[in-house]
Amino acid sequence: MITALAGGVGAARLLRGLVRVVAPTEVTAVVNTGDDTELHGLHISPDLDTVTYTLAGLNDDERGWGLAGETWEVMDSLERLGGQTWFRLGDHDLATHLFRTQRLADGATLSQVTAEISRALGVSVRLVPMSDDPVRTHLKLVDGPEVSFQEYFVGRRHAVAVESVRFAGAGTAVPAPGVLDAVADAEVVIVCPSNPIVSIGPLLAVPGIADGLTTRRRDVVAVSPIIAGAALKGPADRLLAELGHEPTVVGVARVYADFVGTLLVDEADAASADAVEACGVRCVVAPTIMHTPEHAAALASLLLDAGRASGTLRSVR
Ligand code: GDP
Ligand code: CA
Repeated sequence: MITALAGGVGAARLLRGLVRVVAPTEVTAVVNTGDDTELHGLHISPDLDTVTYTLAGLNDDERGWGLAGETWEVMDSLERLGGQTWFRLGDHDLATHLFRTQRLADGATLSQVTAEISRALGVSVRLVPMSDDPVRTHLKLVDGPEVSFQEYFVGRRHAVAVESVRFAGAGTAVPAPGVLDAVADAEVVIVCPSNPIVSIGPLLAVPGIADGLTTRRRDVVAVSPIIAGAALKGPADRLLAELGHEPTVVGVARVYADFVGTLLVDEADAASADAVEACGVRCVVAPTIMHTPEHAAALASLLLDAGRASGTLRSVR
């Protein structure tokens, strides 16, 4: 079994490649729910949906979120009523949120609903939310209020400086069923190229997950979401810097050093390999930009090789 820790788009892309080199039924993805939000009375789980839609082949690759061929009749009608439309929900996407919300109201857990949705959409990777308990990412803005993740990311287009981040509810959250076993029993644990602060951070804040990873450190392989000092998309580079980390592969290595044995960095960062290893993390240099599913498969293959070889290589820590 291979276990992947996942945020949204970067993770979804990698998983789409991973299932080309490993049987999908052998893959478990533990997905961030810190971005989850309630809108119009609906429970929305953006990262779970991004991963599910991508693995189902239903995602809109260009937009990066939501379903391909989506229509927006409900949002248009809502706008006429003066309703909240800053967070765009497509007509077909809304069905997912209606289904999830109803099932949760019936008493199902988020894990159960996630399994039901992925089964219905033909996804055979096991997708597990990090916790069935609510964990919500909040960001305190510099000279501003504390806002929810979606208010920061969508509402303010992450164009504001952040002073601190907290994961409300994480302290008392319990890992979802199967999460700790998925980390303990995996042949290789992959940390997807996701935002270290707001996508991987919430997973680490759920008691038990970070400890489980540390125990498996030698077999944990991460892909840097930072390439040549910048995120490909989104605020990962700025968030790292604002919270006092170096926005480089070395900064990522330092943030991950306690629980990651090997960091894959892009060829553009080859010159930083020694500095990464100086953090006690083995460094593998490779092309890491997933332009196509074929690139993603090649990257996944390298990650598996790196993870499987970890036992035979010198331990850097
Ligand atoms: P979300 O989609 O907003 O939930 O964000 P993620 O947590 O998935 O993080 C996006 C991060 O993934 C950004 O920092 C990107 O730089 C990184 N990313 C996206 N695609 C790729 C890729 O093809 N290669 C690498 N190395 N990083 C990527
Ligand atoms: Ca996300």
